[in-house]
Amino acid sequence: MPKKTIEDIDVKGKRVLLRVDFNVPLDVNTGAISDDSRIQASLPTIKYLIDHKSRIILCSHLGRPKGNVVENLRMAPIAQRLSQLMDVPVSTASDCIGQEVESKVETLKEGDILVLENLRFHPEEEANDADFARKLASLADIYVNDAFGTAHRAHASTVGVAKYLPTVAGFLMKKELEMMEKFLHDSARPSVCLIGGAKVSDKIELLQNMLRRVDILLVAGGMAATFLKAQGYEVGRSLIENDKLGLARKLLQEAQEWRVPFLLPIDVVVAEEIKAGAPTRIVPTTDIPSGSHIVDIGPQSIELFCSELKKCRTIMWNGPMGIYEIPQFAQGTRSIASFLSTLNAITIIGGGSSAEVVQEMGLTDKMTHVSTGGGASLRFLEGVALPGVEILLDKE
Ligand code: ADP
Ligand code: MG
Repeated sequence: MPKKTIEDIDVKGKRVLLRVDFNVPLDVNTGAISDDSRIQASLPTIKYLIDHKSRIILCSHLGRPKGNVVENLRMAPIAQRLSQLMDVPVSTASDCIGQEVESKVETLKEGDILVLENLRFHPEEEANDADFARKLASLADIYVNDAFGTAHRAHASTVGVAKYLPTVAGFLMKKELEMMEKFLHDSARPSVCLIGGAKVSDKIELLQNMLRRVDILLVAGGMAATFLKAQGYEVGRSLIENDKLGLARKLLQEAQEWRVPFLLPIDVVVAEEIKAGAPTRIVPTTDIPSGSHIVDIGPQSIELFCSELKKCRTIMWNGPMGIYEIPQFAQGTRSIASFLSTLNAITIIGGGSSAEVVQEMGLTDKMTHVSTGGGASLRFLEGVALPGVEILLDKE
């Protein structure tokens, strides 16, 4: 990796401002952490800093408090979970800058961890306010960015602070970047990108960039309807982005010019209503009833996609095959996840929803890499430079 990491800097005894992405999902009813994989993912960095006797000042955002103090978005439960996972004491502060934080930082001994309060309680965080960034930075000697999931956002704690401190990547940031980088520039061929999810408009740049990088493109999910319609098929009441039909045609044509097979579902599951319990039918894509919605890919499409995936040595998967939130419409997504978990190929899971399914099915360890950053990985795969990565020091 061309960027410096914590292994390239002397952290011993230093006050390290560690930005992590501990924006974990919370149970809507109880407020309890429903999935701590984002905390788990940064443990190697935290452990390294403890072992190397740093004084760790850990910070993150949680949820969308929009610049206000929101009681159920405090960092204390996260700090507590971290303490359990690491089996070390972890202290907290009631803010992320100011007098109280400064005195707590002063008492930190080598290997101690202080978790700052939710950064987004201050509107200055998302505004990347220079004064706020300077105050945060003044707490530390070194800045370590391990928040890959927030690296596509130029905020005070992901970009602003780097102006004042030597800035290096943590191990999670390093791993994420190396995986994506390798996929884009040096993947074992043939390579395939399987793209699903809701809309074409969310993934235009991804589709365009992938056309130039992979050997096969497989497209499903809600966006497949726009491509099918662009090819002249009837897609019933499925959500169509009419203003993207021209672009869809252009992408299909570009794929031909690049000689990249661009495969769409050949059969789909349709329902008259998008709700649990709605009666469903499996139909060929040439024969979608006018009153119905595409809600998932059908068994022949699953078979077709799996036979293509099987040919490849590198697989990137971004976005669900259907409306997987409704279990009845999750078969396509779940079958693909299971199949990928059996392959010997390099399997990288990029999208937020696809990662969630893999996690929920307990298949994370069977994949080569499941990204912790849906939005950030999408931007990266589009070929866009991430602000939170740009600020890392270059290796000499
Ligand atoms: P990811 O987070 O994995 O990148 P997206 O955010 O692009 O994926 O899309 C996820 C959403 O796509 C899910 O909420 C899912 O319900 C929706 N989706 C998938 N297939 C369809 C479909 N056929 N019709 C409507 N929505 C769909
Ligand atoms: Mg998403």
